[in-house]
Amino acid sequence: MVVIMKQGFTPEQLQEAILAMKAGGVKVNISKGSETTVLGAEGNAAKVDLEMLEQLPGVERVMRVSEPYKKANRKYHPDDTVIDLGNGTAVGGKKLAVIAGPCSVESESQIVGVAQAVKAAGASALRGGAFKPRTSPYAFQGLECEGLKLLQEAKEATSLPIVTEIMSTEYIELFEECVDVIQVGARNMQNFDLLKKLGKCTTKPILLKRGLSSTIEEWLMSAEYIMAGGNQKVILCERGIRTFETFTRNTLDLSAVLAVKQLSHLPVVVDPSHACGKAWMVERMSLAAIAAGADGLIIEVHNDPKNALCDGAQSITPEQFSQLMGKVGDMARCVGREV
Ligand code: PEP
Ligand code: MN
Repeated sequence: MVVIMKQGFTPEQLQEAILAMKAGGVKVNISKGSETTVLGAEGNAAKVDLEMLEQLPGVERVMRVSEPYKKANRKYHPDDTVIDLGNGTAVGGKKLAVIAGPCSVESESQIVGVAQAVKAAGASALRGGAFKPRTSPYAFQGLECEGLKLLQEAKEATSLPIVTEIMSTEYIELFEECVDVIQVGARNMQNFDLLKKLGKCTTKPILLKRGLSSTIEEWLMSAEYIMAGGNQKVILCERGIRTFETFTRNTLDLSAVLAVKQLSHLPVVVDPSHACGKAWMVERMSLAAIAAGADGLIIEVHNDPKNALCDGAQSITPEQFSQLMGKVGDMARCVGREV
């Protein structure tokens, strides 16, 4: 249940509404937005007297909330959440965030070179996997801790914040020290132990990818796990879902961007690379994502896609990325955003 306060309510009226909610046995979360102040009830609201609450002079409206996610719900928090990524970049505001870099960190020259190139093209952050979730145990698994060190070198060279994937709770402390944004991959979206610990044990923003076969509600419930643990900084990432179609690696669900922007206040970025699996589709799908209202993009960029150790077919070159950024800028202006 949420209580929406009237414009210009007094502090006494606010107290009155809070006390009436507490009398019904719930905890009250106050969310002060630029336009609206909302009181969210935490716990079982069955004993709260809704009719009486609605009569209070400072109260505009009382709403029952049927969605099972609360902290991620826009009803509790009407304003868009803007999340700082470090080094002056943010996601969720007017300015789009473009995260770019290789699927995996492969060597010092590769990651530093790509970082410099995407920075010059206007990227906001660097991606690169050090721990890779591969379908085959015989495929390249990532450079692991060495990969994290190389990402730090790339950060020193460019000052771009680092986005990289965590696969196990055992590395949370290490990631806390050397990563700016912690990515939870599609395959771990429902690793509830990992989500709980990322909620409790880190204050770093979490980029939460949508699971391969997850519904929008399941995805928001995973965000809720992190937020319920105490970390409110969740960035949602639509990366395509499994459908019957086999031409593309996945099917990019752009309607999910609109749905999630309506249901939640959290920022949403789109990953066209994993969605399509084809480098030639990345630019157009990036533009479509911005047109649909995404707050940013996460794109795989490799200096030598043909010889990449992972996901070469969907990786674009730094030159292609630079061209894409120009077009993303044009599209951003069309929808009242900027890069
Ligand atoms: C990745 O970002 O490299 C990755 C493995 O993505 P996903 O979890 O979306 O498959
Ligand atoms: Mn990849």
